[in-house]
Amino acid sequence: MYCWDSYLNERSTMKILLLGPPGGGKGTQAKFLIEKLNIPQISTGDMLREHVTKQTSLGIKAKEYMNSGALVPDEVILGMMHERLENEDCKNGYILDGFPRTIPQAVGLDKLLEKLKQALDAVIVIDVKDDNIVDRMGGRRVHMASGRVYHIIYNPPKIEGKDDETQEDLLIREDDKEETVRKRLEIYHNETSPLISHYKNQNIVSRINGELNISDVSQEIEKIINLN
Ligand code: ADP
Ligand code: ADP
Repeated sequence: MYCWDSYLNERSTMKILLLGPPGGGKGTQAKFLIEKLNIPQISTGDMLREHVTKQTSLGIKAKEYMNSGALVPDEVILGMMHERLENEDCKNGYILDGFPRTIPQAVGLDKLLEKLKQALDAVIVIDVKDDNIVDRMGGRRVHMASGRVYHIIYNPPKIEGKDDETQEDLLIREDDKEETVRKRLEIYHNETSPLISHYKNQNIVSRINGELNISDVSQEIEKIINLN
């Protein structure tokens, strides 16, 4: 067993993919991992929301897909990720959160990793049942600028409605309405969950029960990463 300190020195180049349904806890656990491993979180959702806020041409293209709960087209995502993963800060590993989400995106990522002479170390699947997701999403509050995520009951901010670090307002995401969440879950089951088989033969997939409380899920992830 590694202790975290020696582990950090020896394995600071980990490339981890967090896979799971919308609202499964990927963003929450990514924040835990960036502190532990000191590597960046790469969240396509956060990147896209930044484009939408800045009204870039990519953001204008992506906005309607996102608000309706549909996926943004693969070529848009792959172009964005190509640029992102070649960035200097990705040399020492990263946590992919929300990408890839379709088989064509996974194939595109495989090619990109080959070009960069990199490989994923772990694919961690966070499983949560659909009805629990719908329940959770009703309470999700986000700090848009940082991507920090709260829940009104399970992970409340120190001051109601305010981000812990900046005290700025927390928002409810446009796409967290129940009917949109149901649509996103359907897309997850049809288009994203097949990725589990895609990565199975690389022997890097672990599944965890995402219905445990937040710190227990973190502990499960810690165990997986230590073992890999
Ligand atoms: P969640 O955290 O709830 O899973 P995200 O923040 O990851 O949601 O994504 C929000 C929305 O952004 C998605 O519903 C989709 O419209 C778009 N999006 C994010 N990542 C991708 C991706 N890899 N491919 C296509 N669309 C994406
Ligand atoms: P994702 O990035 O997969 O969409 P989030 O990390 O944004 O998921 O989590 C969705 C919502 O559920 C947030 O409000 C978050 O605070 C809450 N949450 C995350 N993990 C848990 C958990 N293990 N138990 C209860 N609520 C959780």
